[in-house]
Amino acid sequence: MPVPNGEEIIPILNTYIEIFKKEDAKIFATRDWHPNNHISFKENGGKWPRHCVRETEGAKFYPGLKLPETTIIISKATEPDKEGYSGFNDTKLLKELKKEQIKRVFVGGLATDYCVKNTVFDALNFGFETFFLIDASRGIDSALGDVQRAVDLMQNNGANKIEFKAIKS
Ligand code: ZN
Repeated sequence: MPVPNGEEIIPILNTYIEIFKKEDAKIFATRDWHPNNHISFKENGGKWPRHCVRETEGAKFYPGLKLPETTIIISKATEPDKEGYSGFNDTKLLKELKKEQIKRVFVGGLATDYCVKNTVFDALNFGFETFFLIDASRGIDSALGDVQRAVDLMQNNGANKIEFKAIKS
């Protein structure tokens, strides 16, 4: 699903991935993995055009994204009748994070005002120290100001907004 300027985050995500790999941190990659008849599609009464149908080109990670082989892939919104914006929503993500005894999570991706925001909220609710990678995220802004509101809400709820510039130094 097109997110304006979404491809701009790829090199930035790759930079973060390199940093986290060096620190031996676990990389998780969430993806929409919708069935053909998913409720989020306009033709089924949802608000989005068809996107990320499982086992199709559109559901693949962006080709330039350099995910390490050890990346744990989290497929979400896999049930026809359930929307799932958060990476935690009916997925194995929480279990995997607990298994790895992870305390801090860093979240970036698409889209800031939907999947990123909901993932960050869930991470905070589950007690993780949560960082929002603002330079590695882009939003949809279907109503003007949605992205800024999402950013403010994440921060007001306890997320740390960071960008690569800041952690490099
Ligand atoms: Zn979706």
